[in-house]
Order: sequence, then C-alpha cells, then structure tokens
Amino acid sequence: MPHNPHLLSRFLTLQNQIKFGTIFLLFAFVLVAFTFLLGLHQMLAIVSWNAQAHEATNRLNAIDRKLLDDAFKDRASTLALESLSDDVTTLEKLLGQDAKPQLAQFQSLLDNWRATSAAGEPVGKLRAQVRELLQAHTQLVAQKQVEAERLNRRLLISSLALCGFIGTLLLIFSGRLSRHITEPAQQMLVAMERVALGEVAPKVEDRSGNEFGQLARAFNHMATKLSERQTRNRELDELYYFNTMLQTSESEAEIHRALLQQMRTLSLSQALILDWEKEVGGLLVMAALYPLPEPDASGFNPNYQIPLCRVVRAGRELVLPDLSEDLICTNCHFGQKHGSAYCVPIISGGKPIGALHLVSPHLDYWTVERQRFIKAFVDQSAAAINNLRLMDQLRGRALMDEQTQVHNRRYLDDYLHKQLAVADRQRRPLSVMMIDIDYFKRFNDTYGHEAGDVVLKQFAQTLKGALREGELIARYGGEEFTIVMHGTAREAMTLAERLRRAVASLSFSQFTNNGEDVKITMSIGIAEFPSSGHTLEEILKAADLALYQAKDAGRNCVKVATRTLMRVRAALQ
Ligand code: GH3
Ligand code: MG
Ligand code: MG
Repeated sequence: MPHNPHLLSRFLTLQNQIKFGTIFLLFAFVLVAFTFLLGLHQMLAIVSWNAQAHEATNRLNAIDRKLLDDAFKDRASTLALESLSDDVTTLEKLLGQDAKPQLAQFQSLLDNWRATSAAGEPVGKLRAQVRELLQAHTQLVAQKQVEAERLNRRLLISSLALCGFIGTLLLIFSGRLSRHITEPAQQMLVAMERVALGEVAPKVEDRSGNEFGQLARAFNHMATKLSERQTRNRELDELYYFNTMLQTSESEAEIHRALLQQMRTLSLSQALILDWEKEVGGLLVMAALYPLPEPDASGFNPNYQIPLCRVVRAGRELVLPDLSEDLICTNCHFGQKHGSAYCVPIISGGKPIGALHLVSPHLDYWTVERQRFIKAFVDQSAAAINNLRLMDQLRGRALMDEQTQVHNRRYLDDYLHKQLAVADRQRRPLSVMMIDIDYFKRFNDTYGHEAGDVVLKQFAQTLKGALREGELIARYGGEEFTIVMHGTAREAMTLAERLRRAVASLSFSQFTNNGEDVKITMSIGIAEFPSSGHTLEEILKAADLALYQAKDAGRNCVKVATRTLMRVRAALQ
C-alpha cells in the first residue's frame, strides 16, 4: 500500500484529535474555574468591606449620638472622652487610610477639649467633623456599590462569553470528529454491502491520513486483491471448461476453433492461428477469427502463406503496442495499421509449431494480466495438439510395418473387413492378391539376412509406388504381401501383371551374381469377392491357394482362384 499523505494529516489521526480536544477542554475548564473563583474572591472582599462599612456608619452615628448626650453639654466627661477615643481607634481600623487625616483631626479636637475642659463649643466642631466623615463614608459606600455592580456585570458577561466560546468550540470539535467518524464509516458500510452483493472491487474514498484513511486504504487493497482472486477464479473456470472442450477435440482444426472462440472475450480486430509448415518453409494461416482480405491481382498469396517469423523461430512471444510503428510482424497484419498486437508461439513437445497472432484496435491493449490469460489458453491448446499428434503417430505406428513402411497384418484385417462390407453393400466385386517372393530363402542364404531386409524393403516400396488410389498393400507376414483393390479378378490380373513386371525389372546393383545384378521375382495368387469366397478368411485362403498354384506353375507368374470355393471351405475346415 504505497501511500504518503501530507505530514499534517498523518499527524491528525483520530486518536490525536481526541487527545488534543480533551486537553483543550481541560484548559477551558480550568480557565472558567479560575475566572469564577476570582469573581467569587472579589465578591467576598466586597461583602466583607460592606460589613465593615456598615459598622463604620453605625459607629459614626453612635459618636454623633454620644456628642448630643448630656455628658458633653457642660463640660467634657473623662469617661465619655475615653469612650470617644476608643470609637476613633475602632473607626481608624474600619475606615483605613482614606479617613486617617480627618480622624486625626477629630482626635486632636478631642485632645484639646480634654486639655481645656471647655464646655459646649467643641461639641459642635466635633459633630461637624463626624457628619463630614459620615458624608465621605456614605459617598465611598455608594461608589463601592457601583464598583461592585460593575464587577458583578463584568463577571457575568465574561463567564457567559467563555462558556459560549467553549460551547461553540465543543460543538465544532464534536461535529468535526463525528463527521470524520460517521461519514467514512457509512462509506465503508456501503462498500462492504456492495462487495457482499458481488460487485468487483468497489473503492472507498481515502481522503484523510487518519485511522479511517488507513482503514479505507486497507479496504481498497483487500477489495483489489479479492477482485484479482475473483478474476483468477473466473479464468480458472474458463480454463477448466476450455480443457474439457480440448479433450473432446478430434482434430487440430477443432482445437484452433476452440482457441479462437475463447479469444472472443477480448477486444480484437483479428486473431490468426499460424502453423509452421516445414515442407513449405513458412507459416500457413490455419484459422482466422474474422475473414481475411480476398487475394488481390498483385499476386497476394491465396493460401495466406507467411514467411517464418521470429516469434515461431525463437519460440518467444512479442508485444507490439502500436501497429503504426511496427516493422516486425508486418506480414501478419493484412492491411491493419492501427491498434496493437500480441503474438504468442504455440510450443508443442518443447518445439515451436506455430503461433497465435492477436490484433486489437486499441493501443497498448496487452496488459500483463491479458498476456497471462492468453498464454494459459495457448499452452493448453499446444498440449492438446501435442497429444493429438502423438496419438496419430502411435496409431500410425501400431498399424504400420516398420521394416517395409507398408501397413501391417492388423491393419489389413481391419481394412479388408470394412471393404468386404462395402463391396457386399454395393454389390461390387473386390479382389485380393497374395504375393510371395520366389526363392527368398535362397537369397538370404546367398547374400545374408541383412541383404534380404534391404531387398524386402525396396520390393515393398516398389509395389506401393505402383499402386493407385483406392488400392492398398499390406505385409501379410515374412516375405508375403497382400494387395486389396475394388474390381474384378480380371482387373486385378492386369494390375498383378504390371506389378510382376515392375518387380522383375528391379535390379539390385549392390549385390551381384557372376558379375550381374541380382534380380528377384514374385508369384501372385488372386481371389475375388464374392466368387472365390464371402468372408475374410475364405478370400485370403482362396488367394493363398491361387498363390500355391502360381508356385506350382513355376513361379514368377499370376494365378486366379477359379471355382475354388468348395476347395477353400474344405481347406479351412
Ligand atoms: P518359395 O516362396 O519360392 O517357395 O521359396 P522361398 O525360399 O521364398 O520359401 P519360403 O517362402 O518358405 O521362405 C521364406 C523365406 O523368407 C524364409 C525367411 O528366411 C525369409 N524371410 C521372411 N521374412 C524375412 C525378413 O524379414 N527378412 C529377411 N531377410 N528374410 C525373411
Ligand atoms: Mg513365403
Ligand atoms: Mg517365398
């Protein structure tokens, strides 16, 4: 999962966001608590000051009332003056520094009065002083009252503002956080449901670097892998189906058609199967998905023969991303100039035997996955072709005589059975020749067994080469051969004479007899269906009897089995 989100978004993981949000809220709470405690402290100070101010007011009123008392009317009473001095001391404590000069003045008036003991007059001055103090104190109280109200208001407003600010931030933070959690979680849920419904690789948007971003990337990665696996499973299913088709194919042409059919799932403008024809020395188009252009007057090869290319020669595939720039596979494009091509060699039994040449109208169409997909099918086809060829070889070998390169006895029996049935159905005569080389034992004894082998092979090939279509030669056993042909014994006689002469004219220059080339002859017995016999055994026996007649007649001649049926049956019993 290669991903390199921005550093900030990587840092702002959900965990970090929650952590920082909590720290921020704690700070905000401490700030509110501090503001509240500060306000409380100030309010308590005001309450305590108010209590003192109230007591000071009472004390000033009490002094005023004492000055009206009888004790001060005539002269100052020592006790009363003492009491007033105590009041002044108390007031000094209550009123603090602000009233100190006035209280000092009041005290000095009291001291004068005590010293002079004058009556009446100082009381008026003292009362004026007390009233002045009372007035100043009342003003101070009023002023403090205003200040207290202002403080109260400020405290209320700042608390409300702080709470509002914190509340707003809290809302923003929680909204952001929930958006960062619920939106991607819902996206993820939808994507999971789509996967459950079988959709291939639905993508979840991966916008942030937080845990959900990581989750989205992990989900996308998982979905991609899942989709790849699904594709591979589908390919395997197709491959399995294709394989069963191949197993039931009886010819290479069927395999070619199955392979081309499979290629239809791709976007192609042409698909060719090329076969390396060694005899021709080039490639032949064995099958094409779409018709090829008609041969033109300029001598275009009607068999679509293509010179041997490097793909088949080297057994290496080739990708051509843009046909307009291609100089390699030009012979296979048949006029197409646009798109891209992919050519895969068909390798059977470890050797290249041809190629599958694909052309798409799209540029750069051949992705690695497509190449893998195609190669899997080509390899399966190549294996099936190889099997077919091996089977053909084996079948051929089982029915051929290796030494003389003509069919063997097993093939002869099978062939003769079928041809007798055909002849019977069509009511046509069928002739069988039994051929035996004359004095071959003697030849072996004179020139050796190996020389006999050479002669035997040449003898068989001479006969084979002299036959026409519809005539078959097989080695019956030893130096005896059988020829089967449709026609009467008379017609067979003509052929037998021709063959006999052909063999008689053979000379083996490698072996000499008294300076002359060695020659061989053969005797031939002919039997005819149905006159000489009806079954395979009867016909062969009749031909054999005729052969004996030829031997008896001095060899190097042809004899036809005539009216021998009863004798044949007797010989067979
Ligand atoms: P004739 O048929 O004219 O009566 O005389 P013949 O000498 O050919 O006698 P016969 O047919 O009985 O002998 C067959 C000989 O052919 C015997 C055997 O050595 C030889 N022969 C059979 N098969 C082969 C073979 O594959 N290679 C060689 N070199 N000789 C073979
Ligand atoms: Mg013989
Ligand atoms: Mg013989």
